[in-house]
Amino acid sequence: MLARRGIAVSPGVAIGSALVLGTEDFRIPQRFVSVDAVDTEVARFRVALDAACREIAENEKLASEQLGQQYAAIFGAHLQMAQNPKLIEEIESLIREKCLSPEFASSRVLRRYAKAIQNLGNTYLAERAADIFDLEKRILRHLLGERREELAHLTEPVLVLAHNLTPSETARLNKQLVIGFATEVGGSTSHTAILAGALEIPAVVGTGDFLSDVSGGEIVIIDGNHGEVIIDPDDKTLTKYRDSEAKFRTFTERLDSLRQLPAETLDGVRIQVMGNIEFPDEVEHCTHRGADGIGLYRTEFLYLENDREPTEEDHYNAYCRVIQAMHGHPVVIRTLDLGADKIPSSFLGASEKAANPVLSLRSLRLSLQNLPLFKTQLRAILRAAVHGDVRVMFPLVTSLLELRQAKMILADVMEDLDEHGVEFNRDVPVGMMVEVPAAAILAHEFAAEVDFLSIGTNDLIQYTLAVDRSDPTVANLYSSGDPSILRLIRTVVEAGKTHNKPVTVCGQMSSDPKFVLQLIGIGLRHISVTPHAIPELKEVIRKITVSHAEQIAAHVQTLEVARDIENYLRGELKKVCPDLVM
Ligand code: PEP
Ligand code: MG
Repeated sequence: MLARRGIAVSPGVAIGSALVLGTEDFRIPQRFVSVDAVDTEVARFRVALDAACREIAENEKLASEQLGQQYAAIFGAHLQMAQNPKLIEEIESLIREKCLSPEFASSRVLRRYAKAIQNLGNTYLAERAADIFDLEKRILRHLLGERREELAHLTEPVLVLAHNLTPSETARLNKQLVIGFATEVGGSTSHTAILAGALEIPAVVGTGDFLSDVSGGEIVIIDGNHGEVIIDPDDKTLTKYRDSEAKFRTFTERLDSLRQLPAETLDGVRIQVMGNIEFPDEVEHCTHRGADGIGLYRTEFLYLENDREPTEEDHYNAYCRVIQAMHGHPVVIRTLDLGADKIPSSFLGASEKAANPVLSLRSLRLSLQNLPLFKTQLRAILRAAVHGDVRVMFPLVTSLLELRQAKMILADVMEDLDEHGVEFNRDVPVGMMVEVPAAAILAHEFAAEVDFLSIGTNDLIQYTLAVDRSDPTVANLYSSGDPSILRLIRTVVEAGKTHNKPVTVCGQMSSDPKFVLQLIGIGLRHISVTPHAIPELKEVIRKITVSHAEQIAAHVQTLEVARDIENYLRGELKKVCPDLVM
């Protein structure tokens, strides 16, 4: 049994068979073979090994002819390894004596060797470990042949284990068959993590290296509540997690009963609880849980669903689906937030990849440099806005000039639609995200020029604390409870009050029940959250009074460090809703 701890990013417990995604997406279909089949399986292994050796010998010849003997020597070493009698003997005896499939046996033995070499901590030897992984892939390729399975061709449920999944790979996961995933890298508010929540499958990210210990086909537990990944669990652990899987189901069913009840405090203050979505399909996750609207529609995911650039009609159709499904409830459509970890590389075209993409050409900056793209989207939003309560929101606004430029372009688009007699809604409210410290510091000036503000804590924390939101090596420094963040949020809430403009928090922070106590305490009345968090947030809201929340927020102001603030809020939440604190 092997256990790894990472960051829990999507709740629930999933138990199933592992599919390890390497760079080549190999999947070992079965771990065991029947006793009667061992001779045939050993023969199959030898055929595959021979084919792999022939292939390496050909590469050696080619390298020697084209590059010289010193390069050919690399393949000579591979060949020696592949023909090592001790190694072959070990694999064959696992097939004969333990009835392991040749795929599983080869992978297990070769990975053990690679790991032992890696653990010596020497750079030169670490490269030799990579040679062993290469040999493993080669043998697997010959064993699996046409039966090699990929994510797109799954036929049974699996838990995906990968070094990393890009947001687009995550977006394409088939949630009927991928019942959970874990990645070695990634942070709590990385876009991959956000999409895991959207898919509503248990997920853990940022576990650190563990894939070299897994071949695929093992039983794995992914605990998305506590951030645990367990490979090859023993019976006792398996029973414990089956119980917690059942308890989690009962817990969500109980919370589900709150879905039609309003998010209203004990003293009758209504909190608007909206949902964040990435794809039109997710609207159902929101309506099903009684969301008061869509507070953040991350439209850039339209790009990740398609390999081509979306047309105006693609935008329009997607927006109409969301608007119609929301039956008159507000829908905040955020203009494209492409760039950083969300952009498809093809989209960058010839331009060089930025050294620091998070600080580079992303989001509104990118839209303002690609006016045809920006105007196409704005046309679609304005046209769709005829069908419901639509609001448009600009992401990553940093300066007033930038905001004014974006508003001017919106006015241009309206003029153009007018000229062409196209029906649209000219009274669409215009708001902006506050997710750059500059915008929070100047919140009063911004509030005077927009209809609403929405605080994107995911980026606000990243930029204020100088911590990459996707990087697990600094995940311990990424804290929503940092006093600097709470002070910036207060500034924005106060600016909203002064200018009579609604302020929402739509970053992941507002999906965390303990922070909702704090946010209500400082006067926030609108949140937009991951849909699955809606029921538990309603539960918290319905169990407190505003004055209680204000007392909590007042105490938080006396605390100086994030750890104390988060511990205190956790303690307060436990008093209000004990079963929400796991
Ligand atoms: C945020 O930054 O908090 C936010 C909501 O935007 P995104 O997560 O899409 O960057
Ligand atoms: Mg953001």
